[in-house]
Amino acid sequence: MDDRTFRNAMGKFATGVTVITTEVDGDIHGMTANAFMSVSLNPKLVLVSIGEKAKMLEKIKKSSTYAVNILAEDQKDLSMAFAGQLQEKPPIQFGRVAGVPVLENALANIVCRVYDQHVAGDHTLFIGEVLDIVMREGQPLIFFGGRYGKVVSE
Ligand code: FAD
Repeated sequence: MDDRTFRNAMGKFATGVTVITTEVDGDIHGMTANAFMSVSLNPKLVLVSIGEKAKMLEKIKKSSTYAVNILAEDQKDLSMAFAGQLQEKPPIQFGRVAGVPVLENALANIVCRVYDQHVAGDHTLFIGEVLDIVMREGQPLIFFGGRYGKVVSE
């Protein structure tokens, strides 16, 4: 099977969009990711999948803590910025939850400590134990078929 077929099929699965944030030696690093899922309620675990070429991979290994910031519908510019797709970045406001840098105004900041990690092909799956959560009201940014969208209510 060719890569395009695989990518196109995965793109049929609509997701939200997150930005993962972490900090190493005082430097905050962010990366857009939609490979995110809830794993377990007891203990509370979530999963992100990070590509082997992403700088984020080593950053999380070093810091052991990170936040998954679920983006709101008006934060497409942040998704593009943290995917390296914008020349001119929008103003980025980092806050702190449990000492970990987070994106202010995201729908949710989910702060995690690495619980387990597995290399799977060209990605590493990080399972994070949830340390703290902050939530805000709003609608999610959606990613489907390689495009951004919004939830349309009937
Ligand atoms: P870089 O490419 O260096 O950083 C990403 C961008 O964020 C750069 O423009 C950088 O300048 C900016 N940035 C980082 N920190 C800061 C800061 N403190 N202040 C301001 N700007 C900052 N890849 C995956 O591995 N897994 C996924 O699940 C995944 N899902 C994606 C979903 C979508 C919708 C998109 C668009 C991309 C996705 N990617 C995913 C690809 C990933 O976001 C990019 O490959 C990204 O560039 C990799 O980031 P990096 O850690 O290598 O760092």
